[in-house]
Parts: sequence; structure tokens; C-alpha cells
Amino acid sequence: MGAVDSTGEVRDGVRETRGGGPRLRFAPSPTGYLHVGSARAALYNWLVARREGGRLVLRIEDTDAARGREEWVEGILDVLSWLGLDWDEGPYRQSTRTERYREVAEQLFRSGAAYYCDCTREAVDERAKAAGRPPGYDRWCRTRGLGPGPDRALRFAVPLEGETTVADRIRGEVTFSNAQLDDFALLRSNGAPLFLLCNVVDDADEAITDVVRGEDHLPNTPKYQLLWEAIGARPLPRFAHLPMLVNERRQKLSKRRDPVRVEDYRAEGYLPEAMCNYLALLGWGPENDQEVLELDELVAQFSLERVNHAPAFFDPVKLRHFNGVWIRRLDPATFRARCEPFLRAAPWPADAFDAAAFTRLAPAVQERVGTLSEVVGMVSFLFEEPLQMEEAAWAKLARAPETPAILVAARASYADVAWEAEPLHAATAAIADAAGLKLRQAQAPIRLAVTGRLVGPPLFDALEALGRARALERLDRAIERAATA
Ligand code: GLU
Repeated sequence: MGAVDSTGEVRDGVRETRGGGPRLRFAPSPTGYLHVGSARAALYNWLVARREGGRLVLRIEDTDAARGREEWVEGILDVLSWLGLDWDEGPYRQSTRTERYREVAEQLFRSGAAYYCDCTREAVDERAKAAGRPPGYDRWCRTRGLGPGPDRALRFAVPLEGETTVADRIRGEVTFSNAQLDDFALLRSNGAPLFLLCNVVDDADEAITDVVRGEDHLPNTPKYQLLWEAIGARPLPRFAHLPMLVNERRQKLSKRRDPVRVEDYRAEGYLPEAMCNYLALLGWGPENDQEVLELDELVAQFSLERVNHAPAFFDPVKLRHFNGVWIRRLDPATFRARCEPFLRAAPWPADAFDAAAFTRLAPAVQERVGTLSEVVGMVSFLFEEPLQMEEAAWAKLARAPETPAILVAARASYADVAWEAEPLHAATAAIADAAGLKLRQAQAPIRLAVTGRLVGPPLFDALEALGRARALERLDRAIERAATA
């Protein structure tokens, strides 16, 4: 029995590829966002498929209809595309295959591998309590011979004896005693198919040869194997369970406590290259310890055999560092193009954006930012009118005794210096000398006057990009304010 006949044909509109390399799948449940752990699973599946000339199937495990909303599915597809992870088949949706799951469930019942159960949860709990057993189903209906009917769940009859061994490519052999596994439900009492049934039927129908997924699924795998055997499909897939991701306190990542949403990183201006590079290193490393790797280098070097089974520390600080490295690797035009969506969404009027001014300053900015969203703050002084001043910094600097004189001297000197970074630098150094200050001290009030902030790109690049007229105007305004402070 089963969906796959002896020639390897797959039914139900699921496409078949004969021969060739391994068939992998990424099977997210749409929950509203893509977790970094799921993204890593997607990446590892993709890397194996690409490296070994296999096929990657995308499957949406959306049987939990109330939770799996359409825009969430769109969101997952969108983030995967952004990461650069394409798929060869799908997305297949479990929500369209209910009849198929029921058909397999029915066959399992007829062959005696599954049985109907009319126990309510309360009844199960009460019996456990009365017997002083831990909560869980006690196989009450296993020998009652119930047929299908309303309010009857279908349960899988797990063998009462023996062991099931999962041969995991990362963890080695993991053996489970069958007696410890519960008679898990395949269909809910309302007839809805449940996770393991759908997961196994799909892997069989989609002719999956390699299951690469998070370690949180390892306890499901002995049940998966028993069910697979009962369905009598093709040879069992190989398994690789990926190490858990933990935070700096070695706790499993939690969506409430830790920054785990890939979408948020994207919105903050992380590069997909940096994301993939960093995710690849969570549990895996190349033989030569090279850290910065392009996608095609990852494809060339990746292997599941080198994946570690110890939990992997997901370190947002390190991810940010990688992002900076990747930002600096972009060629100037690509950097500017990647900044564009962030600049377009920025808080100045659309017609205030001046591409030439941005182009002038972009190289200095590219050297300094950790994320693309930081670019906005670094260049906003070019496009804001009036300038937004960091008022607290201004209040403090305006009280410093040397400030008015520095601003006045800069105003005078900048009026006829050649308007380029180098001469501006020399002119400002002369002002600092004359005032007996370090260059850095003299720069602070000038920077604040013309950019509104205390940190940003190098002052002389900033001045050059801003242009003489606007710089002088801003100095005048600051001199006025300092006089009345
Ligand atoms: N849908 C499951 C999840 O999102 C994945 C199941 C699997 O990979 O086998 O956790």
C-alpha cells in the first residue's frame, strides 16, 4: 500500500523526479514569521540539495487551519526568497491534502495498525490520576474493537515490545523503547489529520530521501519510523537532527525573550549574505576555519557529517559583526542600491533626497555601519531641513566656553576654503591649534552644528557632501543659538 507504487510514481499531483540525487524538504508550519532556527534548517536542506545535485521540496504544514493564515505563508516564501534559498518543487500545502491523509488513515485502520478511540481527555486524565500514573493515554481502546464513528479519534498501535533505533547522521544511533511511546493520534475525534500522519504521508508521497530538521523533532522520529513501516512505503529516509539554538545563558531560544524573527533582521538592514553565512556556522564549520563564506562557497564545503551535536550559541552580536563585514564587501554601487529602500522609507520628504550628495558620502558610511537601517541616521543631515538637532548634546556643548569661538572661526575659515575634505581638514586643524584644542575637541561643536549629531561619518566628508552654502547657513544658525544660550 502507499502513495508510491513500485515504479516510484507519486500520486496526488506531487511531481516525480526519477533517479538523480537526494530529495530533501523544508516543511515549515506557518506561525506568522520565520524563526532563525527554521531558517537554518531551510539553509542546511538547501545546501545539501545544491551540493549533491538533489531537489528541495517546499511544503507548508498548514493543517492547523486556524493558525496558518495565508499572509503567513506568503511571508515565509518572501523571506526564503530574500535569503536566496530557492526550491525545486512546491510549495505543497497540507491543507489541500486532507482526503489523502484520511485515505491512508483508513488503510492503517483496516490493516490493524490503528484503532479508533472514544476516550475524552477528561476520562484519560481521570484514569491516570486514579491509578497514580503520569498523564498520558493508557491504550484503553486498543482492544475494544471500535469502528469509525463520530467523536472517535484514530490512534496508532505502537508495538508494546521491542525498540526503535533512529540512525541519525549527526547524533549517531538513538534507541527508544517502544513501550515508552504513546499510542499517538493520527486523526482527531473530529476527523482532522494530525502532524505525524501528514508529515510521514507527505515524506512518502514526495519521495523524500533525507530529513534534515531541528532536534526538537527527534522524540517524534521513532513514531515516524513505526508509522512509515506500517504504511509500507519506500525505504526510510535518512535523518539528521540539527543541534538546538541557545542564547548566551544556554537557554533554548524563545520568541518572547530572544530576537529570533528573520523578518526583523531584514527590516533592520541585515544582508541576506550575512544571515546565511552566520546561520551556516551555527553547528557547522568548514575544514579550514574560514569564517566569511559566500553561498556558493558554502555549497562547495557544507556537509552534514561536520555538523556538531552540541547546542549552538545564536549570538546576535556576532551576527551584527558579520553583517558589518558583509556590508563592507559590497561594491559601492551595490551598497547604495541596498540602502535605497531604507532611504526611501526615511522621515524626510521624498523630493529632499539628493542622490549625488548620498553618493559622495556613501563610501565613508559603508565603512562604519553595522546595519543598513543605521545609514539613515548617518546621512539624514543631508536631507533634513530644518536640521534635527540632538538637543541634549547641544545644551551641553553650547555651555562649553570654547564653543562660540570655534563656530565663529569655522564660519570665517569655511567661507573661502576650497570645498573638499582635505582643505577642510587642514582649515579645521588650524582653528583647533589657534584655540589650543585637540582637533577632535574642535570638531565636536562644528559636527553638531552641521549634522545635528555627535557621531556620524567623518566630519570633512560630511561637510563636503553637504555643500558650502548649507554648511555656512547651519553654522550661522548655531552661532546665533549659542549667543542666546
Ligand atoms: N512543520 C514542522 C515544524 O515547523 C517541521 C516538520 C519536519 O521538518 O519534519 O517544526
